[in-house]
Amino acid sequence: MLNLSGVTRRYGETVALEDLNLIVPDDTYMSLLGASGAGKTTLLRLIAGFEEPNAGQISLNGERLDGKAPHRRDIGFVFQNFALFPHLTVQENVEFGLKYRETGACADPKELTERAADALQLVGLDGFGHRGVGEISGGQKQRVALARTLVTEPRIVLLDEPLGALDANLRNRMCDELRAIRERLRVSFLHVTGSETEALTMGDTVAVLSDGRIVQADGSTELFTRPHNPAAARHLN
Ligand code: ATP
Repeated sequence: MLNLSGVTRRYGETVALEDLNLIVPDDTYMSLLGASGAGKTTLLRLIAGFEEPNAGQISLNGERLDGKAPHRRDIGFVFQNFALFPHLTVQENVEFGLKYRETGACADPKELTERAADALQLVGLDGFGHRGVGEISGGQKQRVALARTLVTEPRIVLLDEPLGALDANLRNRMCDELRAIRERLRVSFLHVTGSETEALTMGDTVAVLSDGRIVQADGSTELFTRPHNPAAARHLN
């Protein structure tokens, strides 16, 4: 379980997150819904460890994460722009995720290759390992980025607007694949989006972020039928 308690993040005069509380249980698909500027990316960056909060605590299964380097947090991050290495092949991009995460434990090149190939198979990219990143489509890049994260066996995967760059067809396919991966791996996902339809379709639960605070966190059906906070309701019109 991921637990954020009283988390505040300021940039000069701007308060991006203020006294934010949120629990992401194990084995959950949670959508994080918020308008532009609500603080969604900031929240993901704090959880992943790319930045530290000014106040508050973040813990995973009871263990405080503050001060821990991103690659020591058991948390995966799939960036909005995929952030793949253009000079590496698909396979090398996925292996990089593992090499960077582990020191010594996976030094065996054969094991590296096998685990990366398994991760590519999991996201439907069996046989794509030798291709250059420049040779594959946007949807395939998205899946390589997902494989690069999943290969490290994180407890929770942070997805920053994962469907934003995809056309309608690819979006539907990616939704199905994300659900299937969650079923298979029993890993938690925190899926950031500005679209209420996407949030309600994908999430078992939806947390609504408004002006740096979680204003409602509920099952998607409850949130749709009973938005008990006016700020949350605005997102559902
Ligand atoms: P979007 O959907 O547009 O990406 P968001 O919900 O992800 O928005 P954030 O990017 O987290 O929102 O930004 C929240 C607030 O914090 C905004 O007012 C933004 O301008 C501010 N902010 C974020 N990062 C920085 C930074 N590095 N320096 C200054 N202000 C920042």
